[in-house]
Amino acid sequence: MGIDPGHNGGNFTNSAIINKIIWNGRADESCDTTGTATAGGYTEAQFNFSVAAYLRADLIAAGAHVVMTRDSNGGVGPCVTTRAQILNDAHANVAIDIHADGGPATGRGFTVLEPVADAANDKVIASSKAFGVDVRDAMLAYTTMPPSTYYGASGVVERNDLAGLNLTTVPKILVECGNMPNATDARMLTSPAFQQQVARAFTAAIVAFLTGRPIARG
Ligand code: ZN
Repeated sequence: MGIDPGHNGGNFTNSAIINKIIWNGRADESCDTTGTATAGGYTEAQFNFSVAAYLRADLIAAGAHVVMTRDSNGGVGPCVTTRAQILNDAHANVAIDIHADGGPATGRGFTVLEPVADAANDKVIASSKAFGVDVRDAMLAYTTMPPSTYYGASGVVERNDLAGLNLTTVPKILVECGNMPNATDARMLTSPAFQQQVARAFTAAIVAFLTGRPIARG
């Protein structure tokens, strides 16, 4: 199982490293970014890592072998290309990139980002889309975060401009778990209880994807 908690806490102070240009499979992209934050200053990097830590614990308790792309929230990077490579090299049977969005402050909700075929990822498009639907359904079953009101359709959108999706050779989606600039979403995203709900939703989605059984209710 692969978990990629987006960004990193040290990215804020290392722009020379994270602004380095990499090839994302279709176009140039920066190595990484700082990610967004709530109006109160709670960083997306922290949110992503907190959910990842809960998810890792849940998956290990369920008997899974887990590979993460970073082990703390105090480092820099790695580049998005390296994150993809780590999970490819691990031959993860499924992987998830954890993020939260920096959308318009009036907008709410989560979005599942799915890959678009580009040769490198051709073999995992159908499986990634199936997993994406499982994640969307599990978010609805396990949390009270609504599908995005400003992005995608019914909580899902395709993206062809992200290294993590363009370069993946394992089934993978990226989740924007909520919209950090929105006050209602921010209250949820900063709550450990919500972060644990999201981890349980992802675990349920992973189990459903790997077993072919419907999402277990939260
Ligand atoms: Zn992000």
